[in-house]
Amino acid sequence: MRTVITNARLTDGRVVDIAVEGGRIQAVTPAADLRLEQLNGTDVVDVGGWLLLPPMAEPHAHLDKALTAEQVPNPGGDLFGAIEAWKAAADAGVFTHDDMVSRIRTAIDKLLLSGVTAIRSHINCGSGAGIAHLVAAQEAVADYRGMVDIEFVALTHSPMVGDGSEPNRKALIDAIELGVDLVGGCPHLEDDGAGSIAYDLWAAQSAGLPIDLHVDETLDPTVLTLRDLARMVIDTGFEGRVAASHCVSLGMQSADDQAAIAREVAEAGITVIPLPQTNLFLQGRAHSTATPRGLTAIAALREAGVLIAAGADNVQDPFNLVGRSDPLETAAMLVMAGHVLPDDAYRMVSNNVRRAMGLPVIRFEVGDPADFVAIDAPSIRGAIADAPADRKVFKAGRLVASSSTTRTLNR
Ligand SMILES: [Zn+2]
Repeated sequence: MRTVITNARLTDGRVVDIAVEGGRIQAVTPAADLRLEQLNGTDVVDVGGWLLLPPMAEPHAHLDKALTAEQVPNPGGDLFGAIEAWKAAADAGVFTHDDMVSRIRTAIDKLLLSGVTAIRSHINCGSGAGIAHLVAAQEAVADYRGMVDIEFVALTHSPMVGDGSEPNRKALIDAIELGVDLVGGCPHLEDDGAGSIAYDLWAAQSAGLPIDLHVDETLDPTVLTLRDLARMVIDTGFEGRVAASHCVSLGMQSADDQAAIAREVAEAGITVIPLPQTNLFLQGRAHSTATPRGLTAIAALREAGVLIAAGADNVQDPFNLVGRSDPLETAAMLVMAGHVLPDDAYRMVSNNVRRAMGLPVIRFEVGDPADFVAIDAPSIRGAIADAPADRKVFKAGRLVASSSTTRTLNR
């Protein structure tokens, strides 16, 4: 199937037609250079001069928790309030299989309509529900083949080492058997954080899976498992891809310590995933003066050459009451709260995520996957600022989602 996407404006100002065959870019030519006879039998999609960008990607969702803000109130608004509220709701039987499947689909639809064609979601696995959430998630995504690349991380419950770890380890084994894509966990919530990381690395290596851990989601500067993770990855020669999500306490270290730790993180080849929305919501509530932003040390990590891929984390659940499932919202927060320039912020919510997920980046060159988002905006900065809903989303050259809005002003 051949498709031509016409009248697409690239960020360098060129207006081009992009021919796609077999899901990949076959040619990029100045707009209207393709003769009519060449377009015969071709599926033509005119994007009307909209800005064509690499598609967005979400590196850190919690699809099993998404859209439960009404079902699971967290009036205190902090991380432990959210965890306790979630546990209480689960114990009370609030979450049914069908409800979870339906919410996951709604959450994916929202992301797709925003221009997301790749999603990594953490899914709770552990004592209590076991792998029931993963079963629901796998059922929910069956309808999305060819529309979006989705991978699941087994977000294990704590503890993973010592007393009480047995059901959580069993859930991880079951998740791996069911085909989960990555090993996850929250070592900073454990008494033996280093021991937990060692176990997670061993489990991932044994299964031949990459790993993505929740790391140091706290403003307490004495908690610093990121350095443990970097050293263990180097010492063990761990072969898979490694991501560290959050890394909030790195932002509380001195500039010298940030730089030194960032160098170790770079040497270990770890991707760091800042999650500004949820961290801004959950962190800093005990600091009424000079409230910290709860973001990791983005500048120091970039300086050291660490790959940074940013996400939204929770969306409209007890961990984050708001969130539009739009990476442009994350990008705006990287600009405002993380002091990242707009083009870099967009890279962190698009191609950098693809690199973290092991997907090819989109450079609009022949042979690249034909995954794009067209958006009615003058520039990347303008797209982030206005976040217009008017978008067309392409996966392997196929138009998989589109939105248009009508706004009327009556003088
Ligand atoms: Zn998370």
